[in-house]
Amino acid sequence: MTSEARVDNHNAVPGAGEGDAAPSAADGERVNLFSLSRAQMEAFFVEQGEKAFRARQIMKWMYHRGVLDVDAMTDLSKRQRAWLKEVARFDLPEVVTRKESRDGTVKWIVRVANGNCVETVLIPDKGRNTLCVSSQVGCMLDCSFCSTGKQGFNGNLSTSDIVGQVWLADAELRARAAPGEVVRPGEPGGVTNVVLMGMGEPLLNFDNVVAATDLMMDDLAFGISKRRVTISTAGVVPGIYRLAEVSDVSLAISLHAPYDPLRDELVPINRKYPIEDLLAACRHYVAGLGERRSLTMEYTLLQGVNDSLEDARALAALLRDVRCKINLIPFNPFPGSGYQRPDEGRVRAFQTLLMNAGYATMLRTTRGDDIDAACGQLVGQVEDRTRRKERYIARRRAGEVA
Ligand code: SAH
Repeated sequence: MTSEARVDNHNAVPGAGEGDAAPSAADGERVNLFSLSRAQMEAFFVEQGEKAFRARQIMKWMYHRGVLDVDAMTDLSKRQRAWLKEVARFDLPEVVTRKESRDGTVKWIVRVANGNCVETVLIPDKGRNTLCVSSQVGCMLDCSFCSTGKQGFNGNLSTSDIVGQVWLADAELRARAAPGEVVRPGEPGGVTNVVLMGMGEPLLNFDNVVAATDLMMDDLAFGISKRRVTISTAGVVPGIYRLAEVSDVSLAISLHAPYDPLRDELVPINRKYPIEDLLAACRHYVAGLGERRSLTMEYTLLQGVNDSLEDARALAALLRDVRCKINLIPFNPFPGSGYQRPDEGRVRAFQTLLMNAGYATMLRTTRGDDIDAACGQLVGQVEDRTRRKERYIARRRAGEVA
């Protein structure tokens, strides 16, 4: 276990996070401060015989000013700086590549603590900077239309791996500010929105994702409104109930089908947690958010599979008593997927029916497709432990998938 894994206390997935080995801080090893929520950092400093409010000072340097050089932390005495260097480190994921799309979308491939690579995508749009972050290396769930699933799985990201993705993007945006311009946390000079819609299933990396989203919403860290930090789940029902206990982060559900037999095929976790159970969990979660907030239902439109007007009608009926808006995502193709994107007319007709049924229905436009940064195109570099990638490639060779 690393000091980080020790403090993060995570791993809903057996074996995930292996290879993080290092002794704890008590053994003389430094703790990565990016792995600690505010409360954890305060507790750590108190444990070290320091004042809890050091956490406030140091978090402001780390997150508001982007300063990680302890010698530049001028409100700490010389003695405190020497102490801090002894007990703490500030490790971020390493940027392996950075690509910028014609439309301004930026995609980074970053190497995380377990040595694998994941992807992070920044989508600037009219005063908003939305960052799509990864929560796992690959994914265990194997949704039939998602290329991340085809990569297999190789572990959970640590809290600092997740928070680090936001820090890196925020730093790049802040560096673009005019000289002297003050960028306040959560405002347009930095990251304004975060969606956990990159690689992985966030609710299967529960503790680290919650600690990371807490930091995103903490005024002493990224200071982003809870309405603008969104966890997206394929429908890990127990995780939704657990989340309701500890957080009021925004939630999106990858629904994709209004009937169980079809959803079983597209989102296999549906066989374990069918639609009825999923929607009960959704109603429970949204009830805890207060009347003015709602959930987002994501629906990827696959030509000839789930995009008919009959499907739209069934969806409208299904969601009648769930407080939600609907986000339609026309399918983003990748080699060998076997699916196609419906034409624009069909997409509009689907949207119109839902709007006429009273649902706020957004169409997610494809961004960054020239750099393979669109939904479902994120693959990173995963040392697959599940042999799923191998089987997929073999099936493609045998011509089983188009
Ligand atoms: N595991 C999380 C995050 C996944 S990515 C979840 O399932 O919610 C975010 C969204 O993109 C999900 O709704 C996912 O189903 C969708 N998606 C995946 N592959 C896609 C593709 N090729 N085209 C369009 N949407 C896709």
